Amino acid sequence: MAGHRGGRWNGEWCGGRGTFMAALIGVALLTAGRAPAADPAPRPGPNILFIFCDDLTCQALSCYGDDRRLLQTPNIDRLAKAGMTFDRCLVTNSICGPSRATILTGKYSHRNGFYNNTNSRFDSTQTTFPKLLQTAGYQTALVGKWHLVSEPTGFDHWEILPGQGIYYNPPMISASGKTTRRGYVTDVITDLSLEWLATRDRTKPFLLMSQHKAPHREWAPPLRHLGWDGDRSHPEPATLFDDYAGRSRAVSDHDMGIDRTFTELDAKLRPPPGITPEELVTWNAYYGPRNDAFRAANLSGRDLVRWRYQRYMHDYLACVKAIDESVGRMLDALEAEGIADETVVILSSDQGFFLGEHGWFDKRWIFEESLRTPLIVRWPGLTEPGSQCDKIVSLIDFAPTFLTLARVAVPAGMQGRALQPLLAGHAPADWRTSLYYHYYEYPVPHRVRPHRGVVTDRYKLVHYYGTDVDDWELLDREVDPLETKSFHADPAYAERMRDLRAELDRLRREVGDETDPPRTAFGDKPFGDR
Ligand code: CA
Repeated sequence: MAGHRGGRWNGEWCGGRGTFMAALIGVALLTAGRAPAADPAPRPGPNILFIFCDDLTCQALSCYGDDRRLLQTPNIDRLAKAGMTFDRCLVTNSICGPSRATILTGKYSHRNGFYNNTNSRFDSTQTTFPKLLQTAGYQTALVGKWHLVSEPTGFDHWEILPGQGIYYNPPMISASGKTTRRGYVTDVITDLSLEWLATRDRTKPFLLMSQHKAPHREWAPPLRHLGWDGDRSHPEPATLFDDYAGRSRAVSDHDMGIDRTFTELDAKLRPPPGITPEELVTWNAYYGPRNDAFRAANLSGRDLVRWRYQRYMHDYLACVKAIDESVGRMLDALEAEGIADETVVILSSDQGFFLGEHGWFDKRWIFEESLRTPLIVRWPGLTEPGSQCDKIVSLIDFAPTFLTLARVAVPAGMQGRALQPLLAGHAPADWRTSLYYHYYEYPVPHRVRPHRGVVTDRYKLVHYYGTDVDDWELLDREVDPLETKSFHADPAYAERMRDLRAELDRLRREVGDETDPPRTAFGDKPFGDR
């Protein structure tokens, strides 16, 4: 057992309240109490509100206690104080579509067929947890970003952004066609989510997946938060000017640097798409004079990187502020209706994100900032308020968790494990101590080479393969928490290298990923075509 200790996990156990069985009984009593007398079928389980963000990273959330203290997120903190915060929820392929496909199917990319954002299309005939919940009597809804190309299946109601979506006045698609919604995308998704909640069939439990675009690139803030930081200087990460010395060329030869890849749209040197002339007046009032000063200064080198980093932090964090407000509105709505005690609330993201670490924005790498994604779960009767868990969990665990919650059998093909014992504060002795990772998309858009690896509490062994680079790297987070060195050729790590290579082989067998992926897994262009 361990409690909330100053915002940062420093224990080694999952804190929770009571036993898992007691919690299950509690949930059963709760749901039994809610079932209308006229309904002969017992409700299958509590409601699920799944608040899912895009590129939201732990460093931006005050409940995760990042050293830089970039932002206060009072509403997300409110959720964390009422539930369990997972310190190491790790993704299996750190980009948008693949993470979404993994959550829906409980399977790795090589099993669900969605490898990359470039040419993958989700096979919607697959078994997904929303379909199984729908069959079990749940009313299911999806609002916001989908990004799996094929239309959603398994939902009674859905309204999604086409592709990546845009921040201002976004077009949206539903089963009945396309409409343009007026407003800022995070507010629009929140409004539509609340609207569905208010009009749903109250005789059934619900699954509501409220899925935000924010804070995805190009990090366009809501107008109300322009200037939120009073032009203060945000602390830089220690590795903003990482020189990649002693590392694989796969790491140094990237195209996702604040120094080399940052566009005018990223820097808000031109306005975002969808903004109206009226909105543009407010937008220009903030960015205009600052952009004029930037152009007059004619910055270069490190000064230019520093300016871009500050602009990036203002914009990214302003987007997160709107997410935080959305979480507050959703929690308020559950309380106002009196269903907070019978609704499990999950907040997560499709991956983490670099906020300048290693000189980067974006994600993709097995490095900690993009590998680790936020996960906060408030499950009344199961999670101890303000508890934390440092066990390795992953997106493959979400579907088994939701199915177990709804008392639906987990299909044999799903590759994760239900989180309920951890949520109840009882980590099984055989809980995983390592996780398999496999990233594919290359060379577009950011020239991050395919890599597979094994992750443990302390180490990561990475293999960059299949391109002009064939390198291994061994990271030791205890010795080098910023992940700026590779110990793979250090004789002192020879035995560790052998052990981790054996573990990687074991995991590849376990997850059924022993052969090289099809060439299409990497995107449109096979290697060597550029
Ligand atoms: Ca994403």
